[in-house]
This record gives sequence, structure tokens and C-alpha cells, in this order.
Amino acid sequence: MANKSKFQAIRGTRDLLPTETGLWNHVEEIAHKVFGTFGFGEIRPPIFEPTELFARAVGGETDIVSKEMYTFSNPTGVAAMVRGERLEGTLADMLPEAEMITLRPEATASVCRAYIEHNMQQLPQPVKLYYMGPMFRRERPQKGRYRQFYQIGAEVLEVLRPETPHQFATRHPSQAAPKDAATDAEVIEMVMTFFDCLQLPGIQLNINSIGHNGPDCRRHYIGELHKELIKIKDHLGPDSQRRIGTNPLRVLDSKVESEQSYIDKLPRIADHLCPDCTAHYATLKRQLDLRGVFFKENWRLVRGLDYYMRTTFEITAKGLGSQNAVCGGGRYDGLVELLGGPPTKGIGFAIGEDRLILSLQEAGKGAAPQGRDVYIAWMGERAYATAVRAAKDLRTAGFSVELPPTELKFGKALERADKLGSRFALILGDNEVAEGSWTLKTLADGSQQKLTEPELLEFLRNCKRLSS
Ligand code: AMP
Repeated sequence: MANKSKFQAIRGTRDLLPTETGLWNHVEEIAHKVFGTFGFGEIRPPIFEPTELFARAVGGETDIVSKEMYTFSNPTGVAAMVRGERLEGTLADMLPEAEMITLRPEATASVCRAYIEHNMQQLPQPVKLYYMGPMFRRERPQKGRYRQFYQIGAEVLEVLRPETPHQFATRHPSQAAPKDAATDAEVIEMVMTFFDCLQLPGIQLNINSIGHNGPDCRRHYIGELHKELIKIKDHLGPDSQRRIGTNPLRVLDSKVESEQSYIDKLPRIADHLCPDCTAHYATLKRQLDLRGVFFKENWRLVRGLDYYMRTTFEITAKGLGSQNAVCGGGRYDGLVELLGGPPTKGIGFAIGEDRLILSLQEAGKGAAPQGRDVYIAWMGERAYATAVRAAKDLRTAGFSVELPPTELKFGKALERADKLGSRFALILGDNEVAEGSWTLKTLADGSQQKLTEPELLEFLRNCKRLSS
């Protein structure tokens, strides 16, 4: 039970303590390694951006933009205050001079903004980027759902060269389906490889194609879906009823138990894809097979924004209850253009790091407790000087060392060494220093040996090699 004090972490936020951060660091290190082997480079965009960026990229009708963003004004009037001009009135009066900014609820928009801002279309294409860091959404907190949470994500962006015919959105569906589908499959393979390296238990990949926003494809399907939804309207709850008008595809997302038998009978998008989107989806499945990636098709997996197209996927893991999605992703060929950039293809995903960690912890894969390699038990002035030098040398050699700042009786020191989970105690008294041979005690079995400093380093290195 947490101690109550005046100040506590705000609801939906939490402290990650050293007992957990070891696992977080491990997960992030593996992400750097695995994504690096697929040729991805890390990008670190800012944590706040103009509100307008998210409103456009994520969409004004989404829950995220309509009710979950942390938005505030960034008064440009501050510059005037710095110059010493007194500003009269309230913050609201200054608003015309202020830009609205938002703590990022996701990072795809920022990555696309950065792609445009840094002219990354001039680089060899595609540009493959990944990121990790905190996101902010004002959601109802529960297990696996926080208001500050962490995502690890990646995006592949590829500008359409002028000589390449427009290949997406409402204009001309792709003639390059096989190439794009291979990219989609590789991105999915990368996430699955990452999860495999972490030995994440019970992962399940679901895929779907939502076609493209053309009259012979998704738009036609949405028309059909709408007609059928009107017929079953009275059997649906208020959220789904509202979505019939605003975003019929999102009704397919519904988890409301009483709606399921009706939704299951609705028309399926796979029966309404245009030939190019059908080819893309077939190639994606072949490409996943080729890579040994096991998947399940789920026709109800949708992304409710117009520029999302074709591939959508979601990965669930064990031990997470109702919040079991650890990763969501999809193709979004129209997004960079929507943000003012050139026509660009894109595919990406975001992993919920908090949920990933929860699932690993539930499976007993927490990081080993943080012990010390060596605890230095010293007594006497001369021994202290040697202990300080020994600590420095051992740390330089990569060992974790605890050096008590005040002299302790050896018995007390060994007790502390034990409590800290130390593997060895290095015992340094004035005698050891005078002799130049130090006593190293193995705490697990109490055995002791006398070693010179070079022998000590050699011995510890061997132990580390054996245990790693
Ligand atoms: P999204 O950006 O909504 O597609 O979410 C991608 C992934 O981020 C989800 O599959 C979750 O694992 C994770 N996620 C989204 N929202 C939250 C949240 N409020 N708390 C924790 N994880 C989240």
C-alpha cells in the first residue's frame, strides 16, 4: 500500500522504479538492436507539437482528438513580457497571440512532419525510422491503460518520384502492390522478431485489408455497410448508433457483447476490394508465409481514417485482460500529403511498451534484481585510499561496485553486502593493503581467497564471462 503524502503522481501516471526500469531498459535495448538489423534509424521528435498537426493527422472525429488530448496555449506574448512590456488582461486575452500546442498522443504525425521538414524525400528511399518515448491521452485509467504511456514505433516513408504514377488514395490505386506488400510484410516481420527476442508469451498477429478510399473499393463498401447498419440500428448501443452517421467502419470495432451477433452478419470488406487491393492483400499473406510469420485474418480490424489503406494489423499478448493489444499498425499512403508534403507512401506501427512490459512481468520474465558485483568492506585510513582506487578500477572494468562512505566493522559490512544482493565482498584492512594481497569473499558459499589486484580483475572478468 502506498504511503499517502500531500503529493502523489497524477492519476493515470506512475513512477517506474529501479525494480522495473531494468526490464524497460532491456526491452529498449533489444528494440534498438532488432530495428537496427532491419536498417531503421532512431528519430526523437519533440514531446509537444502544434495541436493542428494532430487534429489533421489523427482526425478531428477520433476519440483521441475530440476528447483525450492535453492541449494548452503557448502564448507568443511571453516574448513581449521578456522584452519588459507589461501585458494587461488574462491569458484568454492573449490567446489570439498564442499558438495551441498539444502533448503528443502518438508519434506518427510527428515523424511525418519531420520527414517533410527535413526534406527526407531527398534521401535514398524508403526512409525507415523508429522512435520510443512517452505519449499522453486523457483516457480512463485502468490496468494497461494510462494517461502517460510509452510507445515504441516505426515508420517506413517513401516519396513517389514524379516519374512514378500516383499510386494511391482516390486517384490511381497501386500498380506496385507486390513491392508495397513486401514492405508491409517486412515491417510486420520486424515487430514479430522483436517480440520473439523478448520471448513475449502468447502473441497473436491479426491482419486485414481495408482497401483504398476509391469509389470501386472502400467507398462502395462503406455505402453497403451503411445500408445494413441502418437495418440493425435498433439492436446497437448509443456509441455504435452514433458511428453509423460519423464513421460506419468503426462500428466493426465494437466490443459490446449484445451487438456481436448482428455485427458478425454484416458485409465483409474482403468481398468488396478492388482488384489492386485484392492483389496487395494476397501478396501480403504470401509474403508473411515466406517469412514464417504466422497470422490470423480478422475482417473486423479497421482503422477509421480516410488515408489509412490496405494493410492493417494488430498484435495481442497474454496476461493483459481486456487491454490485450500490444501493437497496432497499418498503411497510410495519404498522410504525408495531408500534412503538406509530397505524395508519399507510408506504413508503420506503435507498440504499447507499458503493456509489453506487463505481459513480460506476468509471464515471470522480469529482470533479475539489481545486485552489486562487488561490495568493498574496508577498515582503516590506508585501506580507504586503496578501496577508493579499487572501486574506480573495478567500475572502469565494468563491474558494479558499492563502496560504503564510512568505516564499518567487517561483520556489519558483510551483512550490508548480503542485503544488497552482492556477489562478492572485497575485504580491505590495513594488513591486506600492506601485503598487497586482498581477500575476496564469495557471498553465496562463504569461500575466501587471497588475490593481488591484477588477479582479482582477471578472476572477476572470468566469472562475468561464465555467467553472461
Ligand atoms: P494506437 O496508437 O491507439 O494505435 O495504440 C497502439 C498501442 O499503444 C496499443 O496497441 C496499446 O498497446 C498502446 N496504447 C494505446 N493507448 C494506451 C494507453 N492509454 N495506455 C497504455 N498503452 C496504450
